[in-house]
Amino acid sequence: MPRCSRPGGSAIAAPDPSAAPDPSAAPDPSTAAEPCAALVTDFDGTMTARDFYSLVSERLLPPDLPDHWGQYRAGHVTHFEALQRIFASLGRHSEAELLEVMDAMGLDEGLAGSVARLTEHGWEVVVVSAGCSWYVDRLLASAGVEPEVHANPGRFVPGQGLLMQRPEASPFVSHELGVDKAAVVRDRLARRERVAFAGDGWPDLDAARLVPAELRFARGDLATAAAAEGLAFQRFERWSQIVDEVVGP
Ligand SMILES: [Mg+2]
Repeated sequence: MPRCSRPGGSAIAAPDPSAAPDPSAAPDPSTAAEPCAALVTDFDGTMTARDFYSLVSERLLPPDLPDHWGQYRAGHVTHFEALQRIFASLGRHSEAELLEVMDAMGLDEGLAGSVARLTEHGWEVVVVSAGCSWYVDRLLASAGVEPEVHANPGRFVPGQGLLMQRPEASPFVSHELGVDKAAVVRDRLARRERVAFAGDGWPDLDAARLVPAELRFARGDLATAAAAEGLAFQRFERWSQIVDEVVGP
């Protein structure tokens, strides 16, 4: 485990006190900035109030569109394929219309301050999304934060819609979701003292199972799924509340 940095002190409990760095030792610049802990978090419906997909469905989808989501729920196509086909059906709309939908997602208003508090306490934020980086990156940039993001790359092409691809070059690529959220959590579990996960959907369940109950944050369908299998979790309403739980109010 590399030495981790906890500027300002923190509530993070090191699992092995004997491994604590000697305060008289010179800092090692190669490891000094390594975070102690990671909050791996879903984006749609977790850092935002609403999903991009559900808002698109309400506002922009043509009425004669095949039921791609129903085909996913029936197991005929993957989650990634359903979203890819839905986003590619937006070609009759302008990029400005999609940006209006993005702005209606309701990004947590306390996001920037919460990310700063996490950083101060030695936590990194890692965003994992089965959605598209086209809106994930834009919204995070609008809040002035730059966490590590694993999402499906995409671009808007007039007449063709939002074209989303699997992140084929990523070590965390998934056939089902595009991004393998559980693999990202496993990666952090191998490298950090503490790992938390937050999500709101069925695709978040595999990742949520991997972290301890006190660091498993859920709402929506993820809360329903966790409760159904007897998995303990912390319920949240706004993403910023999670930060209070992990670093204190
Ligand atoms: Mg979600």
